[in-house]
Order: sequence, then C-alpha cells, then structure tokens
Amino acid sequence: MSKVVTRFAPSPTGFLHIGGARTALFNWAFARKHGGTMLLRIEDTDRERSTEPAVQAIKEGLSWLGLHWDGDAISQFGRASRHAEIAHELVAKGHAYLCYCSPAELDQMREEARAAGKPPRYNGYWRDRDPSQAPEGIAPVVRIKAPLSGDIVVNDHVQGKVVFKTENLDDFIILRSDGTPTYMHAVVVDDHDMGVTHIIRGDDHLTNAARQIIIYNAMGWTVPDMAHIPLIHGPDGAKLSKRHGALGVEAYRQMGYLPEALRNYLARLGWSHEDDEIFSTQQMVEWFSLEGLNKGAARFDFVKLENINGHYIREAAPAYLYDIMVATAREVGREVDLAGLTGNKDTVLAALPELQPRAKTVLELIDLAQFIYATRPLTIDAAATALLTPEARTVLADMATTLEGIIEWSVPAIDTAMRTLAEAKGLKLGKLAQPLRAALTGRTVSPGIFEVMVLIGRAETMARLNDQTA
Ligand code: GLU
Repeated sequence: MSKVVTRFAPSPTGFLHIGGARTALFNWAFARKHGGTMLLRIEDTDRERSTEPAVQAIKEGLSWLGLHWDGDAISQFGRASRHAEIAHELVAKGHAYLCYCSPAELDQMREEARAAGKPPRYNGYWRDRDPSQAPEGIAPVVRIKAPLSGDIVVNDHVQGKVVFKTENLDDFIILRSDGTPTYMHAVVVDDHDMGVTHIIRGDDHLTNAARQIIIYNAMGWTVPDMAHIPLIHGPDGAKLSKRHGALGVEAYRQMGYLPEALRNYLARLGWSHEDDEIFSTQQMVEWFSLEGLNKGAARFDFVKLENINGHYIREAAPAYLYDIMVATAREVGREVDLAGLTGNKDTVLAALPELQPRAKTVLELIDLAQFIYATRPLTIDAAATALLTPEARTVLADMATTLEGIIEWSVPAIDTAMRTLAEAKGLKLGKLAQPLRAALTGRTVSPGIFEVMVLIGRAETMARLNDQTA
C-alpha cells in the first residue's frame, strides 16, 4: 500500500459534534496504524454558515481528544481558483460543458419531468449544444457529463459493493455561474490534490460518492478507497438528538468525561475488535482496520459511556485528575469549588485515591471532594439530614467525647476508639458511621469516614461534630 493519507473534512458551521469526533477518530487511527498522515480540511465554502469560532471549536475539540492532524489545516474556500481551473479543464477535455439554462427554464424542466412521472432532473439540454447558441446576458454554470449508461459502482469497505444506476445521476453542476465550485466538485479536487488514499466518513455521503466518482473518472484520477460508516443513532434507534447525546465534544468535557474514555467509547461505537470493551488508544491503533467497522447503525448509550469513564477515573493518576478537576471547575464556572480545590491541593491529592472508585465523572469527583473545603456549618443534604435524628445526635456527642481522648489522630487509632464505643453502646459500627458521615460531610456518600476525619484534621472534625450536637 502506498503511504496512507486520510482526512477529516468538517464543515465549520458549529461545534465538533460527537459523530464528527468519531469520524475523526477512525481517520486518525487508520492513518496512525499504517504510519500515514491524517489531514484536516475545513470545508468552509458555504460562506453564510461557516464561522471562525466554529473552526476554532473544531480544532480545540480535536486537540482535547488527542486527535492531532498533520500539517496545517487546509481551507477549502482558499482553493476556489484551483477548483475552477479543474472545472474548465474538464470542459476543455469534453467531459463537462457550459449550461445557460435560466432558473425559469430549469423550473419548467422540472415541472415537465414531474408531469411525465419522472424524477425532476436536468435533462442535458446544453450537453451537446453548440456554445455559439449561448444566449446573451446569462452567466453559465459548468455541468459534468454524467455517463448515460452503465452503473457507477462504489466498492466500499463497510457497505460492500454499492451500485448506482446512471439514469439516476444527472449532469450535476460543478461550477456555479459566479465561478464558485459546488461542494461535490471541491471535495474531489481537494482529495486528489491532498493525495488522500482513504476516505472514511458518514454514510450520508454514500450517494455523493457515486457523483464524485464521475469526476474522478472524467479526470482520469484514481478513486481513493472508501469507507462509509453508519451514523450514530439514539438508544431507541431514532436519529441522534440532543437529548441522546448529539452534542459538541466540549459538552462532554464539561460533563466530566475524560478524553481517553471518550476515545475508547467512540471507538466502540461502530467499530469492534473481538469482545474488547476497554482498550488503550495504543491498542486501538494496533488493532484498527476498516474491516472492523460495523455495518449496522451504532446506538449511543450514556450508561456505557459513564461506565467506561468510571474505569478511566479509577485508573488515572491523582495528579492528572486534580488538574482536570481544577480545569473543569473553572470551565463550568464553579467558583467555590475552584477556590476550594486550588486552596487545598495537597488534601485533595491525598483524598483522590479514596474518591476515584466512587465517581463516574469529573463533576462527581468534585462533588465528592467538597467535604474537604466545605465551610462550617456544613450544608446537610436531605438524605443526610434524615440520618441526624435526635437519638443520632446524642450518639454523636458521645463520639465527640471519645475522640477528644485520642492521642494520635490516625485511622487505626480512630477505628479502635470507635469500635470500643460501639461495643459499649451495643451498636453496630455502621450505626455510628452513618450519622458521623452526615455530620462531617453533609452527605450519605463519602470515602471511608475515618479517612475523612484524618483528611480534614482533628480540629475541623471536632468543630463539625460540635455543629451538629450543640
Ligand atoms: N464536510 C462534510 C461534512 O461535514 C464531509 C465531507 C466528506 O467527508 O467528504 O459532512
């Protein structure tokens, strides 16, 4: 195989959404696997809808996901003169022609086709007409001469052999009357000039592929290998909606997903390697093949994504997670948490191994860390309040007395003291731990409560207890 060149070709009309991210991931993995390159082409020919902030958001999204493209991003709009040049070359070669039909004539053509029960297509009016018959004052478009018979075959790595009847493909426009290229034409010229060997994209582009092959053939260019991947659907099988997760990748970052978890999850969404669910990016690259792409539509599943994210959170180094917690708190505007996390870095780092097994997202990690920097008197949530019955508060007072007497403030010493107290009271240790957790963290879920006491320190522990017993 010659050197593999793939490309990711987003239209910058919005954020990098989850489907685009997956397409980029597959292109990236395939290029990496074969020691090739992945190029980034910004398809910004639609000047009305393309924006610079969207270009930035796409680049940031890719970078955050660790999907680095090779070389500079290419602007499709910036290549308009090259697109026009090829369109004129096709005219010169006799594979394309100037069409002078006015909008009214085209309307009439469509009406007539419809009346005859045919699909509303261009009827080739100018295909063989002598340009000397060109009317005055009409700027022509350039149309490709689509083959009149035979089939156009897309040999697709995912869809297999897909046959398009030429009668369904009319002489479509490649250059508009203002000299700008159509999308169909620009993509082919760019892919050829960029040396793209493999096109991996959504299967909503499959019929475009047939039209694009007509241009490749007319120019005598090699058609790249193609893999059209099924789109992502919601868990109910319907088109992916916002509620289902059709969001920009930055929304996932803000919800507290780690890039490596999202990569792993997206890889499994439409691609598989045996029964493997969790694998490193390096393994994915090693295993990646176009044959592993699934033909059936993938279904987005938040629960699965959460579970995978939980795995990566458990595995991560505390220092790495700490930085992400801070960045996330900053990004989503959680000022109190931001101050708490940055002001108590060492304690948060020490607590993280206790927090990690209990969190599925970075936001949950932040919530779990709040007991460290919560200000007194603590806000006690509803479930925790329910545990703080008058009876429980009396037990808390006894605990406070016992804890006063501890010499060394450590988990084993606290553990021994609490067990002794539980025995004396004829209570299970858990019965003591529950109200203790409520009083010290304001919640019913936290790391081991004795660890919590050591993390926040003796003085703070006694003060928080006191707040609930006095
Ligand atoms: N710009 C197109 C899109 O965002 C992709 C075109 C292609 O991959 O050929 O859907």
